[in-house]
Amino acid sequence: MELKEIERQLKKQEAVAKNLEPDANLRSSWLNAVNDYAEGFLEEIDHRKAFETNSEEDAQKTQFNIPDEGSGIQEIIRQLEDVVDRPGLNPASGGHLGYIPGGGVYPSALGDYLAAVFNKYAGIFYAGPGPVKLENSMIRFMCRLVGFPESALGNLTSGGSVATLIAVTTARDKMQIQPEDIRKSVIYLTEQVHHSADKAVRIAGLEYAVIRRIPVDSHFRMDAELLDEQITADVQMDLKPFLIIASAGTTDTGAIDPLDKIAEITEKHKLWMHTDAAYGGFFMLSERLKPRFKGIERSDSITIDPHKGLFLPYGTGAVLIKDVPALSRSHFYTANYMQDKTETPAEPSPADLSPELTKHFRGLRMWLPLKLFGLNAFKAAAEEKQLLALYFREKVKALGFELGPEPDLSVTVYRYVPSGRDANAFNKALVECVKRDGRVFISSTLIHGQVWLRLALLSFRTHRQTIDTALEVLQQSVVLLSDGKDCC
Ligand SMILES: *Cc1c(COP(=O)(O)O)cnc(C)c1O
Repeated sequence: MELKEIERQLKKQEAVAKNLEPDANLRSSWLNAVNDYAEGFLEEIDHRKAFETNSEEDAQKTQFNIPDEGSGIQEIIRQLEDVVDRPGLNPASGGHLGYIPGGGVYPSALGDYLAAVFNKYAGIFYAGPGPVKLENSMIRFMCRLVGFPESALGNLTSGGSVATLIAVTTARDKMQIQPEDIRKSVIYLTEQVHHSADKAVRIAGLEYAVIRRIPVDSHFRMDAELLDEQITADVQMDLKPFLIIASAGTTDTGAIDPLDKIAEITEKHKLWMHTDAAYGGFFMLSERLKPRFKGIERSDSITIDPHKGLFLPYGTGAVLIKDVPALSRSHFYTANYMQDKTETPAEPSPADLSPELTKHFRGLRMWLPLKLFGLNAFKAAAEEKQLLALYFREKVKALGFELGPEPDLSVTVYRYVPSGRDANAFNKALVECVKRDGRVFISSTLIHGQVWLRLALLSFRTHRQTIDTALEVLQQSVVLLSDGKDCC
């Protein structure tokens, strides 16, 4: 191309490309429109359904096509409302009492907004000293919470699953599991462990390792004595035990394994102990509940999810690891084009401690709410959630429901046993009835072949009033079903 032609083309393309930089007026009109919508959403949240059914037809109709020319913000927001915001589960609702409820504290949205506007690079200290330091501070805050030493660190991940993958990978390398050892290597966990642990094991190339599911006691906690016996037996069989995955708050029942005893056994046999505290970890903010986690500080690695117990929006998990050199050995890499990095930075870089290089600056969405609200509000909310579980149990028992074991945290199971009818079918129908009503959302689980209803409390928007509504819906549903009626 000749220079003249290049210049002509440049002028033409630049004029259109500059659309990517809206002026102040346009920026503020977009921001106002988005803010108006967000405000409408937040003002309404306490009255909105926790679950809205959507038809297959509506789902089919939905199209996210990309136009060649831009569209107006109002039209786009309307589409978002219809097809993204409304249908399905509303995880931001305090009425979400199923699975593990979601959060979404408001300042996180502002943190994300700022992170996206200034787009700081949070992967490497040399390029983004501020963001890296901020993220490491958040990780150290969590390390202190669980009782890890100052030398520990980890990584802010997209969630608990990736956090566990990082931990399992580090354990594999630190324990020197060579490819030829895999079939003789042994991993210990319980049937109650979150499936993300099994997934991490498989992705880390350990699918063919020996997996021992240690039986649980009547509270769904790992039986530490059987664990010890199994490890001893495995060693005698010339196998290579190397990893124990304990849970500090199982998803199904909120159970905390006997961490102190497990740590004892881990140390005796010189294994790696990983504790999955994705759901439960932030209950350590409560002085009353903290003793239940005794022994967690003896873990080698921990998964903890700020997008659960710290009520952040989805996309923020964390792995905490004591042996930072081991974490780095499994994840460090360097490339020619990055040779300008300083040799010994003052702060370790996330890129050296995780699979990611360029990453979302997650720290800001965590730091901003902690800074604006202060820690006490989070402590009270954790405390409140657990008290609500106890409150619910008293009340639902009075309605004639059967209770599962006393919960360690804020997940509790219960079921209705009708006389002369199939309890499993009845409880499944109950879930449907509650879903139909929509004011609250609950889920169920299968324990030893029995259908149990679960109440999981982890939304900062769930308060006593929400639980009273849940009890009312359950009571009405039982009456309807007992009369042989159908809720649907
Ligand atoms: C949610 C959860 C996970 C998985 O975490 P994600 O953030 O969803 O990837 C792992 N373990 C437990 C106990 C959980 O509750």
